[in-house]
Amino acid sequence: MKFVKRTEKCGLLNSSKIGDEVILNGWVASNRNLGGLLFIDLRDRWGIAQLVIEPENFPQLAELGRTLRSEFVIWAKGVVRKRESVNTKIPTGEVEILLTDFGIINQSLLPPFEISDLTDANEELRLKYRYLDLRRNELQNNLVVRNKVYQIVHKYFYENDFMEIETPLLMKSTPEGARDFLVPSRIYKGRFYALPQSPQIYKQILMVSGFDRYIQIAKCFRDEDLRSDRQPEFTQIDCEMSFVEQDDIISIFENFIKVTWKKVLNVDLQLPFARLSYKEAMENYGSDKPDTRFDIKIKTLNTLFQNTDFQVFKQTLENNGIIAGINAKGCGNYSRKQIDTLTEFAKKYGARGLAYIKFSEGTVTGSIAKFLSEQEIQDLKTTFQVEDNDLILFISDKWTRTYTVLGALRLEIARQTGIIEQVKNKFNFLWVVDFPLFEYDETEERYVAMHHPFTSPKIEDIPLLDTNPGEVRAIAHDIVLNGVEIGGGSIRIHDADLQKKMFNLMNISEKEAEDKFGFLLTSLKYGAPPHGGIALGLDRLTMLLIGTDNIRDVIAFPKTTSGLSLMDNAPSFVDEKQLNELGIAISPNSKTM
Ligand code: ASP
Repeated sequence: MKFVKRTEKCGLLNSSKIGDEVILNGWVASNRNLGGLLFIDLRDRWGIAQLVIEPENFPQLAELGRTLRSEFVIWAKGVVRKRESVNTKIPTGEVEILLTDFGIINQSLLPPFEISDLTDANEELRLKYRYLDLRRNELQNNLVVRNKVYQIVHKYFYENDFMEIETPLLMKSTPEGARDFLVPSRIYKGRFYALPQSPQIYKQILMVSGFDRYIQIAKCFRDEDLRSDRQPEFTQIDCEMSFVEQDDIISIFENFIKVTWKKVLNVDLQLPFARLSYKEAMENYGSDKPDTRFDIKIKTLNTLFQNTDFQVFKQTLENNGIIAGINAKGCGNYSRKQIDTLTEFAKKYGARGLAYIKFSEGTVTGSIAKFLSEQEIQDLKTTFQVEDNDLILFISDKWTRTYTVLGALRLEIARQTGIIEQVKNKFNFLWVVDFPLFEYDETEERYVAMHHPFTSPKIEDIPLLDTNPGEVRAIAHDIVLNGVEIGGGSIRIHDADLQKKMFNLMNISEKEAEDKFGFLLTSLKYGAPPHGGIALGLDRLTMLLIGTDNIRDVIAFPKTTSGLSLMDNAPSFVDEKQLNELGIAISPNSKTM
């Protein structure tokens, strides 16, 4: 099968070429017979061109043309001419190519699904034949956007004097919170490398080495139970800087976001982005990644109910808990069934129940209406700026649970009332700062780092490490877009003694700290500069730029939510011989099918 090399790309043809003889290469997207003429849509990476065969003048070409099927690869020679009926939907829609010659370069089996924008094939089938799915416009465009992001990263950070440095993929297992993927060593049997959960330790060590301003588009691996928006391997835009304060990192990154949004979407973002402390985010929005595109805010009601006779609230106050609520505007007509569904929803987030009152045509009804005083009702009206047909939802529980549940309810109400749909074109970026340094792990009965163990406490909070570690705030920063965390980072500890103290507070013994992180601790003793950084999730960023909520749509070869690669069947069993070489035996009971 002969191959004649192209002179033009299908998707780039336009009326400036009218009259030229061109040669195209590509895939047959469709082939139809209309009014005695043969029309072939030919596709390449740049788009689609229409080819025409006139059977009257080229009977042999027409005969061969009739044998063409979808996805055959062909070369086609002809003259560009103006179309009789222009197709305004595609960039090449003004022209077509009258063929004078063409040939089949390669045939194709019948694809198992239609390669079109409107394909209704299920995702499993599309993942199995990923190479065919990737021919579809949508996925081609997604990877075009992803590539744009790569190029912006390289250019922006280079221009800002950052250095790209690769860090190892085979490293020491130093779990950062998640489980490591392990790689057995053949030479040192019984020993394992780990794939990096992030280049965190290496980038800090690069700062010790003096490579101020590091950036890398880094592959990261976390062996966690998967969720629909997670992949076991993912990509981060990973950065570290020396001799900086938090503001320097924030400013470099919000400007990077601004440049990216301008270049990819032609959207002008206003800087600086808003900043909320963790406490403000939780108390107003019930989330450390608040969606601030809409204005339903949580109100804390402890003062309002300080003299309440309602037992449930009274007890919460006695237990130093929090009573808080939101106004679900316009939901005063919710039926009992709708409220029950909301209650079930709240329970999924840990609520023990959901109290509510409804304001409708001057009357106040609802589960706790009869327990509230006239004054309390009046105060609620003022606090929530109540109008007729409003529904107030209350949670009274421990601080975290009260706000988390109300945060989830606030989003659910926004979904149910169509608010999310109304704000879907907004981009609300913000920074969340002043996170707690630790969270208490109830099952392990110890403090764990909220960000990671290398994060610096706020200087003014250092004395609290000895008295009340739970109250210590971190110099950490998360960047959030429309309720999605797209990145996070911190100023790091550059003092070996403070780092040791951190491990100590987390109940990591000196021996364990030495075994796992000894090399980092030692490096900090050789003149570590103050440093800090951040990592943005490149997959998530691309998803938000494109407006998809499926992470697999922005990754060329993704895994399923259960961690399988359906195209190549990874993970797979390996030969006995390979296992022997590694000194590994699989215990018979642990084998899965
Ligand atoms: N290594 C951190 C992460 O992967 C990011 C950072 O602190 O820079 O979340």
